[in-house]
Amino acid sequence: MPFLDPKYEKAATLRVQRRPKQLAVIDQGGCTGCMVCVDFCPVDCIELVPGPDPDNPNVHKLVEIDLPLCIGCTLCAKYCPWDTIEMFSFDDAYKIAPDWTLREVVAEQWGREPVQEAPAVRPRRRDLERKAEE
Ligand code: SF4
Ligand code: SF4
Repeated sequence: MPFLDPKYEKAATLRVQRRPKQLAVIDQGGCTGCMVCVDFCPVDCIELVPGPDPDNPNVHKLVEIDLPLCIGCTLCAKYCPWDTIEMFSFDDAYKIAPDWTLREVVAEQWGREPVQEAPAVRPRRRDLERKAEE
């Protein structure tokens, strides 16, 4: 996997020796597939997930973070125009990611166990929180 920013290459190497304090998790319910985060990720660990219709894969695209590669730099969360990426502690990120993941490609790509069986439709977390406050 290419490292886009040499400044972060050492951090990415250390990533396998010492786990980051925090990781980024995408709430895919709010993701528009704009790919801004992909451009900012210094270790190239954000993957594009095609839309659900194989005949129209560019419709309803999402992105997914390959958590074992994330170094927790926060750049994606800072620059996501839709504010749909949040930083969590290492352990919490792995707990929360399955609930926030609608579709994934990373597990299949790298031969890992999937984060979860993705539900077909899931309301956005922020909307549920707003509803609860009303
Ligand atoms: S920047 Fe935000 S909305 Fe755009 S693809 Fe990344 S997570 Fe999705
Ligand atoms: S925090 Fe975001 S930009 Fe930074 S390494 Fe993780 S996924 Fe990439």
